[in-house]
Amino acid sequence: MSEKKQDPKTFGALFDYVEEKCNFHEEGKGMEKKAVWTCFHDLRFVKEYCVLVDVSFPAVQAVLGRAGGYCDCEVIFNSTEKIARDIPLPTRRPSA
Ligand SMILES: [Zn+2]
Repeated sequence: MSEKKQDPKTFGALFDYVEEKCNFHEEGKGMEKKAVWTCFHDLRFVKEYCVLVDVSFPAVQAVLGRAGGYCDCEVIFNSTEKIARDIPLPTRRPSA
């Protein structure tokens, strides 16, 4: 009954990694409460993961960009809804 391990070379695994790095959480109390997270307005966490699992960052970036993910937090806000988790990460640059 062992659960199948998530393939690290999938968008689902990438999303998990980026979400953890962005560290989404709430700060403050009551009316002051607000959602906060870490984002440097670029795709550094995505790039980090691409290097880690040896997939093509430019190819991944192109797919995320088409899904509204232009920075790490946008990937979580926009791209996760448009890209299925079991889609494999592109391992090489798109030829164009
Ligand atoms: Zn962002």
